[in-house]
Amino acid sequence: MKSIGAELAYFFRGRLRQNLKVLCLYGVFLLALILAYALLFDYLMWRLEGRDFSLTASIYWVITVMTTLGFGDITFHNDLGYLFATIVTISGVVFLLIILPFGMISLFLAPWIEQRLRYRPALELDEATSGHVLIFGMDPITASLIRKLKSRMISYVVVTPDHQQALHLEEEENIRVVCGSPTDQEVLRKVRVGQARYVIANLSDPENANLCLTVRSMAKTPIAAIVNDPEHVDLLRLAGANQVIPLPRILGRYLATRATTCGALAHILDSFGDLQIAEIPVYGTPFANQTLAEARIRQRTGLAVVALWERGTLQFPTGEAILHPEALMILAGSREQLEQLEQLAGDQSREELVLILGHGRVGCASAKFLERKPVPFILIDQLANPDCADHVAVIGDATGRYLLKQAGIEQAQGVIVTTNNDNTNIFLTLSSRHSNPHIRIVARANDDTNVEQLYAAGADFVVSNASVGASILSNVLESKESVFLTEGISVFRRPMPPELAGKTIGESEIRPLTGCSIVALEPADGSPPLIVPPPEQQLQANMGLILIGSPQQEALFAETFSTAAG
Ligand code: ADP
Ligand code: ZN
Repeated sequence: MKSIGAELAYFFRGRLRQNLKVLCLYGVFLLALILAYALLFDYLMWRLEGRDFSLTASIYWVITVMTTLGFGDITFHNDLGYLFATIVTISGVVFLLIILPFGMISLFLAPWIEQRLRYRPALELDEATSGHVLIFGMDPITASLIRKLKSRMISYVVVTPDHQQALHLEEEENIRVVCGSPTDQEVLRKVRVGQARYVIANLSDPENANLCLTVRSMAKTPIAAIVNDPEHVDLLRLAGANQVIPLPRILGRYLATRATTCGALAHILDSFGDLQIAEIPVYGTPFANQTLAEARIRQRTGLAVVALWERGTLQFPTGEAILHPEALMILAGSREQLEQLEQLAGDQSREELVLILGHGRVGCASAKFLERKPVPFILIDQLANPDCADHVAVIGDATGRYLLKQAGIEQAQGVIVTTNNDNTNIFLTLSSRHSNPHIRIVARANDDTNVEQLYAAGADFVVSNASVGASILSNVLESKESVFLTEGISVFRRPMPPELAGKTIGESEIRPLTGCSIVALEPADGSPPLIVPPPEQQLQANMGLILIGSPQQEALFAETFSTAAG
């Protein structure tokens, strides 16, 4: 069905749209001609034979004569009438049976066939191609990865055996494609697997294993494979994958870190040399409801608060900003400074209860993470999970009226919404927020387009499959140039754009122009980084920049400053 829609859409584009107008005009001309003949027929019949016909009968006569059907039920009985009928028949043949089909073929059918025949997907790459990323398997994860690769000007090629998909990707999405079977050595040779920078295996687990074995038999190119079943990690390693990414497990753990404040206080996101970037929830710390100035975090620990993240928006705070309990502080500093902060915040081992909605692979991974803390949790699923012998879930539909209440939503501190249906997740987020305005809601988005709705429904954190997958892959590809924090935040390292050297941070206008903020400056001589430098700080050539912003702001930075792609 989808392809019929696509084919129809084809006729409404470009030159064909123009042709469609011509066809409409021709239709109007034919209607006018039929009407004119009908009126003339009526007049001639009355004038020559004294017979009277309705307009419907007149039109019926004209159409049967023009289409050469000529039933003979209404006929003239004199020479002028015969002459008129002959003219109508000939013009029918010309306008309806010759010009109309000819026009349809030349204006629509021929361009369409020509376009089909003209499209031949590439079957191999140029001899000179090297350093490209080979991507096997298109889904939202690889689509998101491709957007990142494009903005960082890294070349890539998608390999697919499906001609129709190749056409769609190239025409509609402007994605570079080679058509061929992923496990055919000849195809791999043609896409220059030996010269590639990385192979991304994003097919089913068995297909990925086959792909890894085939690539390994030909080249040493590193392979990153996404596995669906965490149990398959070792098998894929055995097949030759260098990086194996058990996405549901990572996603589950990640959601769990967000749902609880217990134990691990600061969650270290990444390090740039000695500089640690960490996030810490305000909830449960003595800083809750204080202003940033009152909290005196920098004076007491030396840590800089780089940004605040509140229900889907990133803010760069001033001293007056209030630290709301539901916010997350993003901090930069050394490991010792973070430990100092943990001491200041005190021991967080309080009573906590977390509900996990959905006991699939993601929910199960969240449960395993909480188990190890330990944080008490209750799993709810409408079905028993046949692959898990470790957990006992409450069986029932979580969207039902009383189940969440009975499970203790009103007393719980956190809820992790993990089903694989976004409508269900949005609904569960709404009903959790409705039952408990202070609960911490962490939700999984299966499709990127639902992230906003989940925030609107009241989620504190939303994490999508696609962005977690794409961020992990791009970290693998770029040796951690950019880190994944949460849906909507990106921390990334860039060389100093030459046009900014010599300016102060204030003069650079990085924030007004791109929305990004400087987390740290890394001096070229290897001395310690300047963390959250003041606006008067001068930028020098060869300094490294560590920035924070949304993924869109990161892209804007790349567009605005010339050598940002480095
Ligand atoms: P994944 O393995 O990626 O986590 P699954 O489809 O296996 O995805 O997991 C989703 C889980 O959520 C399933 O076990 C499903 O039974 C459960 N689920 C879906 N809708 C509801 C609901 N309304 N109430 C309770 N559980 C649900
Ligand atoms: Zn389990």
